[in-house]
Order: sequence, then structure tokens, then C-alpha cells
Amino acid sequence: MPTDIDGVMIILSSPSGAGKTSLVNLLSRLENFEISISHTTRKPRPNEIPDKDYYFVKKDKFKRLIKDEEFLEYAKVFNNYYGTSRTPVIDKLNKGKNILFDIDWQGADQIKNKKLNYKLITFFILPPSKKVLFERLSNRDMKDKLIADERMKQFSRDVLHWINYDYVVINEDLQSCYLKIKKLIEAELNDGSKDYDLEYIRNHVEKLTS
Ligand code: 5GP
Repeated sequence: MPTDIDGVMIILSSPSGAGKTSLVNLLSRLENFEISISHTTRKPRPNEIPDKDYYFVKKDKFKRLIKDEEFLEYAKVFNNYYGTSRTPVIDKLNKGKNILFDIDWQGADQIKNKKLNYKLITFFILPPSKKVLFERLSNRDMKDKLIADERMKQFSRDVLHWINYDYVVINEDLQSCYLKIKKLIEAELNDGSKDYDLEYIRNHVEKLTS
């Protein structure tokens, strides 16, 4: 059983372009919340800061970390490897910090299946519509429209994993989506009532996938 002083693990996953990273950043400003910094073999983007946004490593280093069982979870996403180091996360949870994970569904599944001795809350973030998603993906710093098209196809596959999460939240407006997640976390931590409509989410997913 988790103890009262242990921190909580909070996973946010989403198909690309649903605005998850901004949400994780907002949540990390809450008192006692911290983001888990992942390792990746992907190249840094121009706005990214090494050792803050990611630990950027070469593939051979990543493979060594896998072999040494340093990762709590890892996965291949869009041809690059991503992984969460075990030790810093466990140390912080033991000190009572709540840890936010910006990871994909494969990593979320792995952490869930580990059944660690810490409370785990999982969120899947969805865009309000396919149209908005395409606009968001096209506006990104991307080489060409082909990548946006490819990510739209990836979206149709990724969205199917919504069912494995505790909560699915629609990101129509960043601030209200953030407040919704914050309230759900507070309700989970205090055994309060949860404002959550699964039927509404099921219908929304149907619209996104039809
Ligand atoms: P990006 O390259 O755009 O930063 O991230 C691509 C995807 O990889 C996102 O869905 C992000 O959540 C996921 N990701 C980032 N770090 C990790 C990680 O440590 N493990 C897993 N499984 N996925 C990650």
C-alpha cells in the first residue's frame, strides 16, 4: 500500500498535437509537483533545453541504459527511443513529490503493469476535433505537410488507447482543460467526488474516429 507521505504518479498521454506538453508544464507549477525528465535518442528541437526538456543521448548510450535496467519504462515512438529513468523518479516519490509523466501509451501501459507501490492516476488528452488537430499539427515547426498527414494517420491508431486510462480530457481551451485535470487530481487525492462523464467521452472518441 502507498504510504501517506509517498508522492503520486500522474501520467499524461495523448496523440501528437493534443497540447499535452503545455498541460504538463502548467501542472508542474503546482506545489510539490515535478516533471519526470525522459531520455531520448531524438535530436533537440530549436527551443529545447538539454537536461531540462530531455536528456538527449545517442542510440548506443540508450541501448546501454536498457541493458543496465535503468528504465522504469521505455518505448520507440516515431522512430526514436524514449525512456524514463527509474532511480530519480522513485527517490522523489519516496520524498513525497508528485511526479508528472509526459509519456506515450506504451510507457503508460508498462508503468501500469508494474503495479508499483505508489498511487497512479492516468490521463489521456484529446483534441476537440480532427479539424483542430490538423491545424495544430500543420502549424508546428515541421518540415512539410507530409509529416502532419503522417501524424494524422498515427492519431487514428493512438486514439484507440483512450480506454486504458483513468480519465480522458478534451483540450479545447488550455486553461479550462488544466483546471479540469487539476480538479480530478485533487478529487483523487482527497477521495472527493469526480466530475467525469464517460458517455460523453465515448461519443467524442466516436466522432474523432468516424
Ligand atoms: P516528442 O518527440 O514530441 O517530444 O515526444 C513524442 C512522444 O513521445 C510524445 O507522445 C511523448 O509523450 C512521448 N514520450 C516522451 N518521453 C517519453 C518517455 O520517457 N517514455 C515514453 N514511453 N514516451 C515518451
